Amino acid sequence: MGENIIPLADLRYAATPPQVPERAGPPRGLLLDSLGRPLRDLRISVTDRCNFRCSYCMPKEVFDKDYRFLPHASLLSFEEITRVARVFVAQGVRKLRLTGGEPLLRKDLEQLVAQLAALRTAEGAAPELTLTTNGSLLARKARALRGAGLRRVTVSLDALDDAVFRRMNDVDFPVADVLAGIDAALAAGFAPVKVNMVVKRGTNDHEIVPLARHLRERYGARAVLRCIEFMDVGATNGWRMDEVLPSREVLARIAAAFPIEPIEAGVPGETAQRWRYRDGGGEVGVISSVTQAFCHECNRARLSTEGKLFLCLFASRGHDLRALLRGRRDDGRPWSDDEIAAALELIWSARDDRYSALRAAQAGAPSRGERRVEMHYIGG
Ligand code: SAM
Ligand code: SF4
Ligand code: SF4
Repeated sequence: MGENIIPLADLRYAATPPQVPERAGPPRGLLLDSLGRPLRDLRISVTDRCNFRCSYCMPKEVFDKDYRFLPHASLLSFEEITRVARVFVAQGVRKLRLTGGEPLLRKDLEQLVAQLAALRTAEGAAPELTLTTNGSLLARKARALRGAGLRRVTVSLDALDDAVFRRMNDVDFPVADVLAGIDAALAAGFAPVKVNMVVKRGTNDHEIVPLARHLRERYGARAVLRCIEFMDVGATNGWRMDEVLPSREVLARIAAAFPIEPIEAGVPGETAQRWRYRDGGGEVGVISSVTQAFCHECNRARLSTEGKLFLCLFASRGHDLRALLRGRRDDGRPWSDDEIAAALELIWSARDDRYSALRAAQAGAPSRGERRVEMHYIGG
C-alpha cells in the first residue's frame, strides 16, 4: 500500500494530532486535569481483534466476517508501545494494563510484557503491570507471561453454567477452558486473580451466586469476583437501562447467600467497591459504572491499538499520539520523548470528561453527536 493512502479502518474514530509546546521541559512526574484528577493509570489495547463475540461488546451481527479490523501496519509496534508507556510513567502513571480485544491474540505478547516490566518511575519503582483477558488462551500462556514480569491477571467470566457462558461469548466457547486458565494463572503465581463478570439482567444475573460460590469454594481468597454493571459503551451493543442490574441488588443477592462486610477503599481511583466474606472466605467486589459514577476520581487514560489516546471510555474523539511517534518536526527531526511528554501534559491538563456523572445527573445517556468509541478498540 502506498504511503499516502490511509486505510479506511484508520479513519473510523476522529483523532486530533497533538499540539507540542514550543519549549518542552523535562516531564513533571505528575499531571492534573482541569478537574484536579491525576494521571495514574494507562490501559493499552494491543489488538482490536477477539475470538469471542460477547453481545455487550462485539455483537456478532456487527463484528462479522465482513468487518474490517485494523490492518497490521496501523498497529503500534512493541517498541512504540513501550516508548509511549515510558513517557506516561515519566508523567506519573503507576499502573499499566494490557487489554484489547483479546490481548493474548497478539503474537509474542510476552515480549511486550518483558519490555514494559523493565520500565521504572523517577523514584526507581516498577509500575504495576496487569492484563485483562477472556481466559481462552491463558492455560497456554500464564507461565510465560509470569516469567516475562507480568504482575497481575484479570479474567473475564460471565457465568459458571456452560450453556449460559457459551451463549454469552457467542462462539460456543466452553467454560471449562476458562476455569483451566484461572487454575493455570494461580499455578503460575498470579494470586489473587480477579474475575470480572458483566451482569445483564435477564441473561446471566442468576449466575452471580453460583459463580461466587464456586470461586469461594475452589479458590478462597485466591480469586476475587467482581460484578460489573452492563455499560452503554460504544454504539453497537443495544444497551438498555432495564438490562442493568444495579450493584446494590448484586450485593443483596450475594449477602443473602454469604454474609459480607465492606472493606475500606484502598488507593484513590479504584473502580471496585470491595466487600469481604465474614467467614474469611475471601472477597468480592462491584463496579457500579452506571448507578454510582466514579468520574470524580477517574485517573485513567486509554491508548488504542493504533496509538490514539482517549481520555474517557465514552469519548468520541482521541489524540493521535502515533502521529508524533512516526512523524517528524518541520525541521525533519523526530519528536523527542520530552516533546511527547509535553504534548501529553497539554492534553491531560485540558481534560474535563465525566460522562457517567453527567449520565447519572441527566438520568439518561448524554449525546455527543459523534460516534462513540467501541470498547474492543480502546480496551476495558
Ligand atoms: N477481551 C478481554 C476480556 O474480555 O477480558 C479484554 C478486553 S474487554 C473489552 C475488557 C473488559 O471489559 C472485560 O472484563 C469485559 O467484560 C468488559 N466489558 C466489555 N463490554 C462491556 C460493557 N458493555 N459493559 C461492562 N463491561 C464491559
Ligand atoms: Fe472479546 Fe473481551 Fe469484548 Fe468479550 S469483552 S468480545 S472477550 S474483547
Ligand atoms: Fe472515567 Fe469517563 Fe468512566 Fe467517568 S465515564 S469514570 S471519566 S472513563
